[in-house]
Amino acid sequence: MKLYEYEAKNIAKQYGVPVPRGRVAFTPLEARQVASEVGGEVVVKAQVLVGGRGLAGGVKFASSPEEAVEVASRLLSSEIRGVKVSAVLVEEKICISRELYLSLTIDRAARKPVFLVSEMGGVEIEDLARRYPGKIKRIYIDPEVGYTSYMARIALTALNLPWSLIGDLDSLLKSMYRIMVEYDAELVEFNPLVLTCDGRVVAVDAKIIVDDNSLQRHPELQKLHGREYLDFERRAKELGFSYVELDGDIGVISNGAGLTMATMDSILYYGGRPANFLDIGGGATRDRVKEAVKLMLQHPRSRVLLVNIFGGITRCDEVALGIVDALGEVGGLKPIIVRMLGTNEEEGRRILREHNIDSYVEMDEAVKAAVEASRRG
Ligand code: GDP
Ligand code: MN
Repeated sequence: MKLYEYEAKNIAKQYGVPVPRGRVAFTPLEARQVASEVGGEVVVKAQVLVGGRGLAGGVKFASSPEEAVEVASRLLSSEIRGVKVSAVLVEEKICISRELYLSLTIDRAARKPVFLVSEMGGVEIEDLARRYPGKIKRIYIDPEVGYTSYMARIALTALNLPWSLIGDLDSLLKSMYRIMVEYDAELVEFNPLVLTCDGRVVAVDAKIIVDDNSLQRHPELQKLHGREYLDFERRAKELGFSYVELDGDIGVISNGAGLTMATMDSILYYGGRPANFLDIGGGATRDRVKEAVKLMLQHPRSRVLLVNIFGGITRCDEVALGIVDALGEVGGLKPIIVRMLGTNEEEGRRILREHNIDSYVEMDEAVKAAVEASRRG
């Protein structure tokens, strides 16, 4: 389960990690209050659990409490990548000299925690890995030994930080490892960790993902589990779809339980992870398909939507029209990959082609394309 930035920062702070001064606000007035407590320029950040928030307009600056109110009320009435913003984090604006990347995660193959360290901060780790594969330093922790201070020296060099910061970096890494162990975290990430204009290191963004399997050990978190998707599941149910939330990043629309399960298996087989699935059932009309596709394009975690339809009672042309309608209303949120065959397949394919949507005949091909797209994000 992913924690909100402000929750992750509260934890980080308790473990001595330097984070900007500020706190969460749920109303514009609260935002004003925090901004005046903090003083000077502030940053107002939408609290949503989707990545790329900054690029999606979820990170704003304000130079006075009055401006903070305006910015906060705009953010609090907006959606970031399809997710309603119900809280903002108001913090001092940090003067940034360099943006760095620092995270601690589990390397499943090595069966060890590993620090990922890079001078190229601010970019999402997946992009970082793709664009600058040589720029990520990996520092493994032997779980039987735990964190050891020499790791800070390696990290310091990789981050190209001055020697004077070795003590700060050492306690930062040590805190990250303690957070990982004590919270059963799969990920503790500061992106960016910044070098400030006055030569300090500060965690400007924070992300903690707690292993869902450990939630019984964290009753305070267990209460919160699934909160971000309850609304989404509720919407799917209200529309009368059979919908299941999973934890990956590929959204799936299919028809019939058998084909849906086969699609799940195939995604896992090709190394992908389904975010959810929605079964549109038999004989879905254009309108139903439109509703399903619209909803699924707005899912906060999925990075690509795979539509896998076998046309029996369901007609492929109706499905195609529904997809086109949905894209007309909420297009561009994420790539969509269609596989269909069966009743009125040719007409369906023609409609999609007219709108520059490719469709696959073979399920394997479509699944492979979806897995690739999920990696590209
Ligand atoms: P994300 O887009 O959800 O990862 O949001 P971040 O919190 O990482 O912020 C995105 C970007 O906004 C950062 O990489 C910084 O470039 C910028 N930013 C965020 N907070 C501050 C701040 O306090 N001062 C300055 N100068 N830039 C900031
Ligand atoms: Mn970030």
